[in-house]
Amino acid sequence: MLPFARVAIIGLGLIGSSLARAIREAMPTVRVTGYDADPDVRAVARAIDLCDDVTDTAGACVTDAELVVLCVPVRAMGAAAAEIAVDLPDEAVISDVGSCKADVLAQLTAVLPDHRIIPAHPVAGTENSGPEAGFARLFRRRWCIVTPPAGADPAAVERVAELWRRVGADVEMMDPQHHDLVLAVTSHLPHLIAYTIVGTASDLEGVTRSEVIKYSAGGFRDFTRIAASDPTMWRDVFLANKDAVLEMLQRFSEDLSALQRAIRWNDGDALFNLFTRTRAIRRSIVEQGQDDPAPDFGRRHD
Ligand code: NAP
Repeated sequence: MLPFARVAIIGLGLIGSSLARAIREAMPTVRVTGYDADPDVRAVARAIDLCDDVTDTAGACVTDAELVVLCVPVRAMGAAAAEIAVDLPDEAVISDVGSCKADVLAQLTAVLPDHRIIPAHPVAGTENSGPEAGFARLFRRRWCIVTPPAGADPAAVERVAELWRRVGADVEMMDPQHHDLVLAVTSHLPHLIAYTIVGTASDLEGVTRSEVIKYSAGGFRDFTRIAASDPTMWRDVFLANKDAVLEMLQRFSEDLSALQRAIRWNDGDALFNLFTRTRAIRRSIVEQGQDDPAPDFGRRHD
């Protein structure tokens, strides 16, 4: 049996449009309605026939929904929930796809205290944004972390988990705070480092911008993919997951200082031991199917 017969998606960017496509592909009888605050995004969504119906107001999108998934930047979640509050059926389940969970859960609970709120985070994405950047296979073999609040209705949790399984994701349950700590080190900190390195390179005086671009295959270009990620989304993630990010940043700064010291004092063993450990982590990621084993990310060398 299908987990939901009618799904409303608020926010039709990369993740919302990918979810709409994935639901229509995996569960063609589910009715998918969509809404986005940006009229241009709504026009594109209609032109590419993204949903069964793209509405001009958030309320109209949710009137008969069994599940509403908020796919907007994390600091816009509360406002998006407020916009649908009056029109939301009492029995509807509310979920979201935000990259941090404790802050989003607090925003949604404040606005919709009487609804079943089951947040989730598909750990899948690209550096692109908007409805045309989405694709149905985005969630295949990627984790979706469902973070129900304490005391959540187990049936609603299972229905949300089943929806994500049907679109190809592997589902894991996690406490929202723990999710934020794990993602701070696996996702948020790497983005912060990429933004820093690319920013540092572009501010250099003794090395020209064209040299940075020309010789980027030395490692720099792999950071530029991450540093090209959506500015609104990432501004919101760092502000909404402030505590966990600052905690991980503190640890990172200490480890960076240790490396600095090892270089200064010619401690080759310290460098070699760390680089050996980190190489093993890359191997585990490939072994667990979380990345392609092709060298140099499968780039062509012909
Ligand atoms: P996106 O491509 O920029 O799409 C977000 C869309 O939501 C935009 O069209 C935006 O319109 C619209 N929007 C903003 N506020 C709204 C509101 N109150 N009501 C209705 N629509 C609103 O962003 P995305 O990459 O899909 O990210 C969406 C969510 O997914 C974020 O919470 C993010 O943390 C999470 N996520 C992202 C990734 C990723 O890799 N991108 C991965 C996993 C989870 P405007 O542009 O006019 O504001």
